[in-house]
Order: sequence, then structure tokens, then C-alpha cells
Amino acid sequence: MSRFSDLIADHARPLCVNAPSRRPRPAVSQPIPRRVKLAANESPYGPSPKAVAAMRAAAEGCHLYPDDDALELRRNIAERHGVEADQVLVSAGLTALLATIARTLLQSGRNAVTSERSFVVYRHVTSATGAKLVETRGREDGYDLDAIFSAIDTSTRLVFFANPNNPTGTMVESGAVERFLERVPPHVVVVIDEAYYDYAQHFANSRGVQYSSPDFVRHENVVLLRTFSKAHGLAGVRVGYGVGPVELIAYLARMQDMFSVSNVAQAAALAALEDEEHIRFAVERNAQQAEWLAGEISKLGYRVIPTWTNFLCCDVGQDASAIARRLREQGLIILPLGQWGAPTSIRITVGIPEQNQSFLDALRKISV
Ligand SMILES: *Cc1c(COP(=O)(O)O)cnc(C)c1O
Repeated sequence: MSRFSDLIADHARPLCVNAPSRRPRPAVSQPIPRRVKLAANESPYGPSPKAVAAMRAAAEGCHLYPDDDALELRRNIAERHGVEADQVLVSAGLTALLATIARTLLQSGRNAVTSERSFVVYRHVTSATGAKLVETRGREDGYDLDAIFSAIDTSTRLVFFANPNNPTGTMVESGAVERFLERVPPHVVVVIDEAYYDYAQHFANSRGVQYSSPDFVRHENVVLLRTFSKAHGLAGVRVGYGVGPVELIAYLARMQDMFSVSNVAQAAALAALEDEEHIRFAVERNAQQAEWLAGEISKLGYRVIPTWTNFLCCDVGQDASAIARRLREQGLIILPLGQWGAPTSIRITVGIPEQNQSFLDALRKISV
């Protein structure tokens, strides 16, 4: 092909040489008067003002390398989970931590198991190691843990389990998760990705069901993931963490890039954890807007999957990429799910009332 394609390592080939380009598409010809981006599940309520103040203060010390151990933040997180600080690893977002976990446990000849229609990063980090990603069929638009269990073989080292799931927004209750964890063989590490924890916990409380459990991390083969990118509104800062068994966490820590979590990010995370009021505000507003928006979309005759997150997944019954294009022409950016094998579904991040109203107006306009 060209000079460099021959030089690329075998495991990297499917990721870069034969992958679709990641360059942004050219801008549409007409100027967009107003852009409403509801495509990345960011919080429309922004970061905690206390986190912003902490970042400003930390910026004064940015000529120094950060604490590579993130000790203060790890202690704080450990206390919240009722575990030892040695069981916590802080990372520059979960995307980076997923890559670290994959390159620690996977290699060519091994596999990771996840569900179809789940988080795209699982595929990327698995392929990057030369391992295979096995995607099982879903159940009721979400994870089927029985199918996941059946897909585990002697070469499996990881299960990636997004709970709630992105992009479908579904959640598996803690009892079913617990029963699954009890069955998983010891040669498999289960990564429970709770990126939407705060939203899901709020929905679970109001719907009277059990979502996550502090007991998940009592299992010797579980790594529980949380991020500050979603409800905490810190997606641009890049900080998240994992909780797991001491020995495995120590291996992962050595595999992580040095100094990857900045002192600004560590300060932001600490302050964001303390500002429970801000989180409550974000999750309550989100729940209220999510229910409203889901109701309005249903009235247009589209099926909306009940959500446990800050986004909605709905089937618009026609080519979703065409819908996305027409919405984009009106300045509205949402995610069509064709790449997930759902060519008539879209994912919309729940915004503030004005954004949600703009989305609905635009959807109504193109639906007639
Ligand atoms: C958004 C999201 C994450 C968070 O990624 P960061 O790298 O921490 O921003 C992780 N898992 C899932 C399923 C997500 O949707």
C-alpha cells in the first residue's frame, strides 16, 4: 500500500491501517446557527464550582510532576468503598484504564467476552493486544449474563461488563450480577464498568430496585470501574479509577503510563467527590428530563428503551444515519447506532430543558 503500512505491527494493523479514518467529517456547507451537541453523554450541568476552584489552585503547582501514586485521592476513594487504598488505582479516565487492563491480561490467542451493542472501547483495547473480542447476543436490549457465562472458555481472561450499558442504557440488577460473579471461573477477571453509577443509583432508588453493591469488590476476580467524566462533569480533565484485588491492582499500576494523572485532575476529582450537592443536582435534573424526553419521543411513535443513564436509546424505525444527518443540518448532534448493528436506532444525551426541546422540535420537523 504505502511505505509505512508494511512496518506496522500485526496486532496494530486492524486498528490503524485497515480502520476507518478518525478525522472529523468536513463541515456542512451552510453555517450552523446554533449547535446542540447531545452525542457524548457529557453533563450539561458542568463541573462542580468547587472542582473548578481546586483546579485553579492546583494549576499554581503545575511545574511539578504529579503524585504518581495519587495517594490522597486513593485514600478518599478507598474509604468510600470500604476497601484498602492498595485496592484502588487512579487513571487518566477509564478509556486509559481499560487499555491498561487489556494489555496486562490479554495477548494473541486469548479472548475477552462482552455483549453486542456495548461500549466501543472494549473492542479497541482488546484488538490492540492481538486478542479476540467475543460479543454475545443481548437480552431485552442489554447484557445477557447467561450468554456471557456460556461464552467463557479456557482462553478467556476478561469479561467487559458495562452496567448500565452504553449505548442502550439498560441495567442488570445486583442480584443477577452477584449470581453471575459466583459462577465465573478464577482464570477470568470481570471488569464491571459503572461509568453511569450516580445516574443509575438515583434511578434505582426512585424505582425501588437494587443496582450496584459494595460486595462486588469482595470477589477475588472483580475490578470495578468508576469515572469522573459523566455525573461529575469532568470529561475534559480525564480522571477515573478502578477498585480490585491488591495483587492485580499492583500489576495494573506498573503497567500504567507514568505521571498520566495530572495534579490538576487529582485535585478536581477530590473536590468533586466532596461536592455531593452538585452530583445530587445533576442526577435529579437528569432523571426528571430523561423521563420527560422519553415520554415526548414515545408520543411521536418511536420506541424508547427505559434508561438508567443520562442518555436515551430509541428506535426511529428508519435509517438512523439519515436522521442524524438531517438533525445535524439543524445544528443537532446525536449518535446513530448503525456501527453497533442497530441501523434504525439513535442515542441522545439528555441535556438541559432548552436543548431537549430543540431536539424534539427538530425530530418532529423531520418526522412528518
Ligand atoms: C463514558 C464511558 C466511560 C468513561 O470513559 P472516560 O475515559 O473515563 O471518560 C467508560 N465506560 C463507559 C461504558 C462509558 O460510557
